[in-house]
Amino acid sequence: MAEMVGFIGLGIMGMPMARNLLRAGFPVVAHNRTAAKAEALAAEGARVAASPAEVARAADVVVICVTASDDVERVVLGAEGVAGIIEGVRAGAVVVDMSTISPAVTRRLAGLLAERGASLVDAPVSGGEQGAIGGTLSIMAGGEAAALERVRPVLEAMGKRITHCGPSGAGQTVKLCNQIAVVLNNLAMAEALVFCQRSGVDPAVMIEAIAAGAAGSWQISNLGPKVIARDFAPGFKVGLQQKDLRLALEAADDLDLPLAGTALVHHLFRAVEHAHGPDTGTQALVRALEALAGLEVRSDRQPSL
Ligand code: NAP
Repeated sequence: MAEMVGFIGLGIMGMPMARNLLRAGFPVVAHNRTAAKAEALAAEGARVAASPAEVARAADVVVICVTASDDVERVVLGAEGVAGIIEGVRAGAVVVDMSTISPAVTRRLAGLLAERGASLVDAPVSGGEQGAIGGTLSIMAGGEAAALERVRPVLEAMGKRITHCGPSGAGQTVKLCNQIAVVLNNLAMAEALVFCQRSGVDPAVMIEAIAAGAAGSWQISNLGPKVIARDFAPGFKVGLQQKDLRLALEAADDLDLPLAGTALVHHLFRAVEHAHGPDTGTQALVRALEALAGLEVRSDRQPSL
């Protein structure tokens, strides 16, 4: 029988990821701050634990998928009467943090877990909710190679590409590189759409023409059609995107590195948040450019891609 895996954080990403572990035959012991979500997973065969410490007492591999750096700190170190992983962690255990958080916080938590004889692998993901459901996430891992190899079968149940990026924090650094490239592609798409609209050419035609060429991107193919249909429902929320850009810009400050494009998009998203709230989808970046240009990008048909 496969070994017991602990799972903490059953949100948009964590719930389908934990489900894929169950489907792959791993017994799962799960904890979620809002208990009702863990009960839903219990109906599918998971055992429910009352705290992160209880999860850690029951499993040698403990996966975390919560929101931000301070949330991971609370889950690992405990807070407000909730016992953290560190209170229950077994010597030799591997904690796998799949949230997107600060590389510096990751390294600090890795040090504290090492004092208990446990390892931390940072393993943030790319691929969105669809990738989590389909088990096709790209997983960017940091930490000791031996710890990663130990948990590889667990990660293989959730992702299709697992890249060892380097020592502790390197997975989070590569995830921030991913986010920098994602938002600048998004801006490139948005600017092309606004230019196209003002020029009087159908944006659906433009998307069809450039999607397959040198300017093609995941954003053009997946977010472009949503923009011209005025569909701003979230795949990925602007509020979470802003959290990631803050992490990238803080790291750039520490490195004394100019990150001009990322800073620009961060401020444009701030305007989008003011006008449309943090829960709108990231394709709403175009709305900041539309406000500057005094126009709206739309088409009465969808591109055929
Ligand atoms: P989500 O739906 O908001 O879920 C967050 C989960 O974390 C919930 O289960 C929440 O518990 C739990 N949580 C938050 N703070 C906590 C705390 N202090 N203590 C204990 N549990 C806490 O978010 P998500 O979309 O699944 O994202 C999770 C992580 O994956 C984030 O770091 C995000 O940046 C990253 N990510 C997301 C996507 C995406 O497309 N959504 C893609 C790649 C990476 P409650 O149920 O009690 O609220």
